Amino acid sequence: MGSTMRVVQLDFADAAFPASLVDAPVPDLPGPDWVRVDVAAGGICGSDLHLFNQATGPAQSLSGFVVLPMDLGHEIAGHVVEAGPTSGIAEGTAVAVDPVIACEARGIKPMCRHCANGRVSACHNFGSRVLTRGMGLGFTAGLGSGWADAVVAHRSMIHPLPVDLPVQNAALHEPLSIAIHGLMRTPPDNGDPVLIVGAGIIGLCAAAAVGALFPASPITILAKHDHQARAARALGAANVVMLADAGAHFDALADIVDTPVRGKGAGRMLARGFPYVVEAVGTESAVTDTLRLADGRGTVLLLGAAGISNVDLSPLWFKELSVVGSFCHASDNGTHSIDSALELLASNTLPPDLVITHTFPLDAYRDAVNVALDRGASAAIKVLLTP
Ligand SMILES: [Zn+2]
Ligand SMILES: [Zn+2]
Repeated sequence: MGSTMRVVQLDFADAAFPASLVDAPVPDLPGPDWVRVDVAAGGICGSDLHLFNQATGPAQSLSGFVVLPMDLGHEIAGHVVEAGPTSGIAEGTAVAVDPVIACEARGIKPMCRHCANGRVSACHNFGSRVLTRGMGLGFTAGLGSGWADAVVAHRSMIHPLPVDLPVQNAALHEPLSIAIHGLMRTPPDNGDPVLIVGAGIIGLCAAAAVGALFPASPITILAKHDHQARAARALGAANVVMLADAGAHFDALADIVDTPVRGKGAGRMLARGFPYVVEAVGTESAVTDTLRLADGRGTVLLLGAAGISNVDLSPLWFKELSVVGSFCHASDNGTHSIDSALELLASNTLPPDLVITHTFPLDAYRDAVNVALDRGASAAIKVLLTP
């Protein structure tokens, strides 16, 4: 259509900040099954912050699935403003946009065996470079993104909002769906104590999802900051334990599951532990704590997007743990995790006022990222950009 829009690109063009707000062409619809969405809200994700924080940057093994410069922002909600003739979606519809660009969206036929079964999170063609060079919106270029005025999406990526869910709050679909899909990979037994390591947005989304899907399971959250602990309590966590220096939090966690702590100092481990532990931070120490706090033959779910890490793996074999990895969104048991997330948001399972702490206009993207990074001082949980 020839006009231009604004988009935040990770381009390393400015030594002072790795991303820039640039003008780019408004993307044309790649095909008749596609729609263009005017972005109402784009969330700043922990994985985005990993890109701005060298200490927890992603591993080079993912470099073949992203492009530079990269149009940032994969937590996307907005309104359809142009609908392709076979998209089946009416203009004006309020939608959440699945950032994953899998076989169907790329037009790859036949679809890979995972996509054919709804498991688009494990698509074989994320690195195919068919249609676009990156694995998804927020990790590619030329299609718009969540930190832009507009984005295009295939009908398979579009999830209309339930009535009464305000479009801005719908950007929370993305982290909540991450938690739901992760839990559905290997669900806890309803009633088993669940420990969530980390009370940022992913940990809080995991708490909301466990509370809704496994209501008999008492939730314990390990939190770093007071504002996170308050939010965890408001979400109904049975126990909130503060992260302490030199592993002192192990004593409080041991009391909750009535087990001794073995070892000394930096080498402490629970003798038994929690049968289901969700890792929601992504740092080396969080992954190590997660393994040491799990019960024998327990399940450990990694949601924190850890990269190359120096981690104590001895509890993994010593306690015969099962480690489950999880990525983005998928249909598990016939329901797409984004649709499950939207239903939970519509029923106020994750109250938006509790977690959307900051909202910035698009041109204040640098302030927004810095507020999200400096969450100890800013008390940020979820920061939104509203183009
Ligand atoms: Zn995200
Ligand atoms: Zn596929």
